[in-house]
Amino acid sequence: MKEKIYIFDTTLRDGEQSPGASLTPQQKLEVALQLEKLGVDIIEAGFPIASKGDFEGVSIVAKNIKNCEVAGLARARKEDIDAAYFALKSAKCPRIHTFIATSDIHIKYKLKMTKEEVLETAVNAVKYARRFTDNVEFSCEDAARSELDFMCKVIEEVIKAGAKVINIPDTVGYSIPQEFGELIKTIKNRVPNIDKAIISVHCHNDLGLAVANSISAIINGARQVECTINGIGERAGNASLEEIVMIIKTKQKHPLLENFYTNINTKEIYPTSRLVSNLTGIVVQPNKAIVGKNAFRHESGIHQDGILKKRQTYEIIKPQDVGVPSSELVLGKHSGRHALEKRLSDLGYKINKNMLDKIFTKFKLLADKKKYIFDEDIVAIVNEELGKQRQQLELNYFHINSGSGVVPTATVELKIKVNSKTKIFREAEFGDGPVDAAYKAIDKILVNLLGLKSTPKLVDYQLKAISAGKDAQGEVIVRFEYDQETFTGRGISTDVIEASIKAYVSCWNNFLLKEKLGKKIKINL
Ligand SMILES: [Zn+2]
Repeated sequence: MKEKIYIFDTTLRDGEQSPGASLTPQQKLEVALQLEKLGVDIIEAGFPIASKGDFEGVSIVAKNIKNCEVAGLARARKEDIDAAYFALKSAKCPRIHTFIATSDIHIKYKLKMTKEEVLETAVNAVKYARRFTDNVEFSCEDAARSELDFMCKVIEEVIKAGAKVINIPDTVGYSIPQEFGELIKTIKNRVPNIDKAIISVHCHNDLGLAVANSISAIINGARQVECTINGIGERAGNASLEEIVMIIKTKQKHPLLENFYTNINTKEIYPTSRLVSNLTGIVVQPNKAIVGKNAFRHESGIHQDGILKKRQTYEIIKPQDVGVPSSELVLGKHSGRHALEKRLSDLGYKINKNMLDKIFTKFKLLADKKKYIFDEDIVAIVNEELGKQRQQLELNYFHINSGSGVVPTATVELKIKVNSKTKIFREAEFGDGPVDAAYKAIDKILVNLLGLKSTPKLVDYQLKAISAGKDAQGEVIVRFEYDQETFTGRGISTDVIEASIKAYVSCWNNFLLKEKLGKKIKINL
């Protein structure tokens, strides 16, 4: 009998804690619906007590997801558990995930408690959560650095109190595979009632070992893995879902992994990866395993020759098994609506007629400027149109004056929605270059309008071509910081200055959304 490995996706909680990755409740729902299609077992949708936005995010996911469990995170406190319960109230299958640190360093310096107090708090939290649901998960934060005897005691007691899943996180990404596997084996052997719970792991990638540690844990007794799409998350990120799933699938003949399977529909991996990258603004590195742009590209002549003769010579996974669309070059000026609609569905988008009309118009405009339309171009158009529905600001007009021996100046007009009315604001500025001038003009409009104390600080600006060819569209990603929070924006155009301005406007849009949703409490797990 094969054993199932439960996939607990925390893209919307831990992944969303990546700097600059914050998602609105509506965006969270979009990702959650795709995760449901992907076949994950549990979606951790957020940390409800952290902010109004997080609470709304978890509620909307709970209300709409029918085929997976939905989890909300809560510290081992009443208020947190109450918030998680209320946010999860309409879930078909809710899970409360509560935690407290069990390592000496966290107990002494962060919690300022004694071990006895930690044990009592953990047990009480689980008992309290059990009043609302029998689906309670408990995490020993910083488990990998915890004193073993004490942690085993905590685990035994919280299982007695009713925890059904015991999560062992390598919170700081400090373990190596043999060590972490050994830890799981010891817990399995030493905790007397461990058969009444599922052992889960949650590994961070600080030493690049999150996936390796998770696999080692499975081999040694873990049956749930917490992971994220594209491996996003705090600092160096979490274990990557797509890598774990494909390791289990690809190594089905290996004696160590032949007894395991997951519920994941691997063909949905690529569309999910794209969606998460597009919504969070976190670009997937080209050489990333499974979902990177180069993951299935063969550059060397010898390899290409081998691939043409028999694919398995240099390919261990078929690109179509993880949902990578077959050819890249697709459409052009003469392509019709149906061709576009078909490609959109290959790329994982379900789009209504109204939206398809808008996307088709944009597509035609772009096809006039650019000979070949690549997948990346289509994805960019879709994301821009989907993004617009949520935006309060729009670039209405810009004019740039720049050249050698000229002081660069920019005039920018923004359309701003205030209480269902749209107003136009215009400013002009000069700067070190045309982009700098335009950004200053935008700041001038918004800092005054919103009554901010200072201008946000630009911390990152990246420009790249999103597809091949001299006429490729430029994509700009910018991040700015305001009051210790980072916001991300993207802009796309065949004109790089326009792309830069759009990216900055989108950054401000995310700032406005976040302001509405309130501040966030940051946590590590
Ligand atoms: Zn974490």
